[in-house]
Amino acid sequence: MSTLFPEGTKALVTGASRGIGAAIALALAEHGCDVALNYRSSAGKAEEVAERIRGLGREALLVRADVGDEAQVAAMYRELRTTWGGVGVAVLNSGVTADGHLAAMSSSKWQEVIGTNLTGAFLTAREATKQMYTSGGSIVFIASTSGIAGRAGQANYAASKGGVISMAKTLSQEAAPRGIRVNVVAPGFIDTDMVKKVPPAAMKEALQAIPLGRMGTAEEVAQVAAFLASPAASYVTGKVLTVDGGMIHS
Ligand code: NAP
Repeated sequence: MSTLFPEGTKALVTGASRGIGAAIALALAEHGCDVALNYRSSAGKAEEVAERIRGLGREALLVRADVGDEAQVAAMYRELRTTWGGVGVAVLNSGVTADGHLAAMSSSKWQEVIGTNLTGAFLTAREATKQMYTSGGSIVFIASTSGIAGRAGQANYAASKGGVISMAKTLSQEAAPRGIRVNVVAPGFIDTDMVKKVPPAAMKEALQAIPLGRMGTAEEVAQVAAFLASPAASYVTGKVLTVDGGMIHS
């Protein structure tokens, strides 16, 4: 099978135990990468993904860390350097929602989402960039269409993902001289555990606004993320690609 990556490229995927992150980890492995799977609490599910990757003849490492915790993120990247000499690809995907209207939102709900989605993206991107400083690499952030267009009930989440997009554009300019590309995938509604929390009425309304008339799959996001991370996208940096069935106009 032809692969997008040079055989044995070392990749990290955060939030790789379930949903979009698990699909990205598998897609990277299918395309030639050995993959380190980060997760926070779903150890059993992460191990299942690792087994599937090993079944493809690739290496899989489990690296538990809360991406919002500076010390845990530093320890995770130290382990990657010790075991593999570092990574050349980082897909920064971990994320959470805690929806509610802004006027009624508690500070803790705000901090919870900003802490994982924005601070987590910052901490993991900082260490990835440092690890790629001498040999170059590629970073892909998983943001959201909510971070571009906003979405009622998601002030904390939209702010976090909008912040990720601005941070990624900035990092792309800072890291380009080091041979590091930085891009963003912004999914719309994707069929994972995360959207199971959306109330049925809101989901029905959302589906009506999607020109392709359905939710996307995690695999459909994964293929786009793998492409952007790979040398096939070698002249693409600082860009945001929406994967949303045509939902938003950006
Ligand atoms: P999901 O099924 O809920 O999976 C979330 C993943 O993130 C899990 O692997 C989880 O690990 C991990 N995670 C959460 N908090 C973490 C933390 N503090 N440290 C490390 N890992 C953490 O969500 P998903 O739908 O696949 O979403 C993946 C990404 O896509 C997120 O950034 C999300 O915002 C974005 N996105 C999703 C959609 C959608 O419709 N599904 C749309 C737009 C954007 P554990 O299993 O260990 O908890």
